[in-house]
Amino acid sequence: MSLFAAVEMAPRDPILGLNEQFNADTNPKKVNLGVGVYYDENGKLPLLRCVAEAERQMLEAPKARGYLPIDGIAAYDLAVQGLVFGADSEVVKGKRVATVQALGGTGGLKIGADFLKRLNPSARVLISDPSWENHRALFTNAGFQVGTYAYYDAENRGIKAEAMLADLQEAKAGTVVVLHACCHNPTGYDLTPAQWTQVVEVVKARGLVPFLDMAYQGFGEGIAEDGAVIQQFLAAGLDFFVSTSFSKSFSLYGERVGALSVVCASSEEAGRVLSQLKIVIRTNYSNPPTHGAQVVATVLSTPALRSLWEEELAGMRTRIRAMREALVTELKAAGVEQDLSFVTRQKGMFSYSGLNATQMQRLRGEFGIYGVDSGRICVAALNPGNLKAVAAAMAAVIK
Ligand code: PLP
Repeated sequence: MSLFAAVEMAPRDPILGLNEQFNADTNPKKVNLGVGVYYDENGKLPLLRCVAEAERQMLEAPKARGYLPIDGIAAYDLAVQGLVFGADSEVVKGKRVATVQALGGTGGLKIGADFLKRLNPSARVLISDPSWENHRALFTNAGFQVGTYAYYDAENRGIKAEAMLADLQEAKAGTVVVLHACCHNPTGYDLTPAQWTQVVEVVKARGLVPFLDMAYQGFGEGIAEDGAVIQQFLAAGLDFFVSTSFSKSFSLYGERVGALSVVCASSEEAGRVLSQLKIVIRTNYSNPPTHGAQVVATVLSTPALRSLWEEELAGMRTRIRAMREALVTELKAAGVEQDLSFVTRQKGMFSYSGLNATQMQRLRGEFGIYGVDSGRICVAALNPGNLKAVAAAMAAVIK
C-alpha cells in the first residue's frame, strides 16, 4: 500500500475555489468581486510608482543576497515601528517594542501565535464573528482553542458593540483577543474611537491579551487615522501584539512583506521577547527574504519616495471611497429603495453587501458576478467599466 493511501483530500479554500470558478466562466462580462486585492480603475493590479522607483535604485547598485538576520532588515523593522507606533513615540525611543520582519501579515500572525502558545499553552483565542477566514485556522493550527466574540449586526447593518463588550467581559484572564485595527475583513464595519476606548478598558480590566491585526493601514481614513487605535492601547499602558501587512498598502502581495511587533513593559523585556520570536522564526524558515522588505524600507526611509507612497496610497483609498458612493448611486438609480448608507459607512476594501447566499449565487449564475456567499464583495475591484453592470445585477437579485 502506498504511504499516502489514507491521505484525505483537504477541503478547497472557498475564495480560491471561487477564483477557479471565475476563471472557468466563459461569460465575457464576468466580474470578480470575490478577491481580496486592490485593482485600479482599469481593473489591473497596480505596480506603485514608489515601488518601481525603489527597485530602479536597487538595480543601479546591485547587491549580493546574503542571509538576513533572523529578525530581518534592521532598517525595515525600524520603519515598521515608525509607521505603527510613531517614530517619536515613547515605546519606540525607549526600545520597548520587539519587531521582526515576517512573511506578510499572515506570517506576523503565525509568529505571534507560536510565541503565545509557548508563553501560555492553555490560553484561548477569541476572534470576531465573522473574521478573516484564516484567523481561525491559523490559531487552531498553532494549537489554540478558538472561539468568537460578537461583532457583526446583520439586522442593524453595523456592530453589536454591547454584545462584543459583554463577550470580552466574560473571557478569562490571559485570553488572546484578535482585533482588526482598521478596515474589518470581511464586514467593512470598524469600531468608533469611543467604542475602542471601551474595548481597551475591558481588555485592561480583564487582563486579556490584545493582538491587533493591521492588514490595511491607510485604506480606511489615512495612515495616522487608521493607526489611532494603536495609540489608545499604548496610552492604556498595555502589552500587546501588532501584525503588519504591506501586501495591500504597497501592492506587494507576492513579495510577502509584513511584520510582528510586540509591545513590552521595558527594553530589557523586549530583548527577551525578541530572542524568543527569533527561535520561532529560526525553527520555521530560518530567516526572511530580502527583496520586498528592502523595497519597503527604501520607500519608507527616503523622503521623496515616502511622500509618493502616501500620495499613491491616498489615491487607492479615495478611489475605493468613490466606488462606494458610486455603487450606492447606481443601485438607487436601478430602483433599489432600501437604505444603502451602510455601504459608505464601511471602511476598506470590503463590503458586507447584505445579500444572502442565494442572492450571491444568482449573481454568479445569472450575471457572472462573483462575490463570497457571505455577501462580501470587494469594492476595490469595482471600476467605471464594471460598476453599472454590477449595480444592475445586484438590483435584480435584491428586488
Ligand atoms: N489579516 C487580514 C484581516 C487580512 O484581510 C489579510 C489578507 O487578506 C491578512 C491578514 C494577510 O495579509 P498577507 O497577505 O500580508 O499575509
